[in-house]
Amino acid sequence: TNFWADVKQGPPDPILGVQESFNKDSSKHKVNLGVGAYRDENGKPYVLDSILKAEDILHEQRKDKEYLPITGAGEFCKLASELAYGKDSKPLKEGRVAVAQSISGTGALRIATGFLSMFYSGPKTILLPDPTWGNHIPVAEQVGIKVVRYRYFDKKTVGLDFEGMKADIEKAEPGSIVLLHACAQNPTGIDPTQEQWKELSEVVKKKKHLALFDMAYQGFASGDIIRDAFAVRYFVEQGHQIILCQSFAKNLGIYGERAGTFSMICSSTEEKDRVLSQVKRVIRPLYSSPPLHGAQLVATILGTPALYEQWLGEVKKMADRIIAMREKLYNLLVELKTPGDWGHIKSQIGMFSFTGLTPEQVAELAESAHIYMTKDGRISMAGLNDGNIQYFAESMSKVVK
Ligand code: PMP
Repeated sequence: TNFWADVKQGPPDPILGVQESFNKDSSKHKVNLGVGAYRDENGKPYVLDSILKAEDILHEQRKDKEYLPITGAGEFCKLASELAYGKDSKPLKEGRVAVAQSISGTGALRIATGFLSMFYSGPKTILLPDPTWGNHIPVAEQVGIKVVRYRYFDKKTVGLDFEGMKADIEKAEPGSIVLLHACAQNPTGIDPTQEQWKELSEVVKKKKHLALFDMAYQGFASGDIIRDAFAVRYFVEQGHQIILCQSFAKNLGIYGERAGTFSMICSSTEEKDRVLSQVKRVIRPLYSSPPLHGAQLVATILGTPALYEQWLGEVKKMADRIIAMREKLYNLLVELKTPGDWGHIKSQIGMFSFTGLTPEQVAELAESAHIYMTKDGRISMAGLNDGNIQYFAESMSKVVK
């Protein structure tokens, strides 16, 4: 018997599919702006020097390879939470934050939706920005959480539709789960201002919604880990019992190591213990316990003052290179008299820029110039460098004209 004859071909992943098309292209001019991974000024993957040093330290230590506990390495969880919430965070000091090591940001999101589907007493509805990182949708839907969208992007201004965002969060069923990108929103690169975050905190509080923060880019947005944690820390100060999904993929450049945390603010230590006992029951059947190496790297860097300082410099360097590419691309587009206003390329933040290119223009760039990006016109700024930016700007200018 053949059991699988009825299984239909699934659709390609919209982001990973771009990589496949790029790989197939044999042109020597080809440019890949699809991937959400940092590239150095030569277009190559970049391993931070602080990571190399941490690997040397770990190598010397010759640690054993025993299983970690279900919720991961305690020291890692502590240091990671301090990075996100701040060492002075009140709930951290009071021992009422439930933290578990996760398989990077995606794994944290999956623990979150798994836990919510089992234990959340409010409406099992999650509000996601439109647009958002594509994976948010199946991570919620696969555990039966209903997805509703809130307005986020304003096509006309290529900026934030703040009034729309606020209104949609306001009109959602009270107690809904609201997913917020902590910084460097993917794909738009557009974040609320600090004043706008304060207003959002009020609306979320008034409606008794549950705020779920996805923080995949701390430090990567502005180059400053404290500034990028503003929204998370502000919501916590305002008494929100947030859920936080933290990824170290980008800010430490350890994509394939899969290190992150899932955490929840609880109202007491006793409640935290109860919650964690159930978080364990979500994790155990998924993958039993998390991987060792990435968490050891993170803990070594965050826990060694000299390495920590070095890492801060390296995050800033990555962020600054991206910011410099924004400036340069903007200047080139203006010099080339490209029709339209391109100020958003400079004002957007983080790994991506939402260019405003149409799906047709995106297709034409791939066909005529061997330049690859996602259909929505999102480009990974890290894919640009001094060697290809002129070519990219000229090609982009041509398809717009
Ligand atoms: N959230 C957002 C918004 C992201 O952009 C990403 C990475 N593309 C993630 C979460 C998770 O990534 P990872 O699982 O690699 O940490």
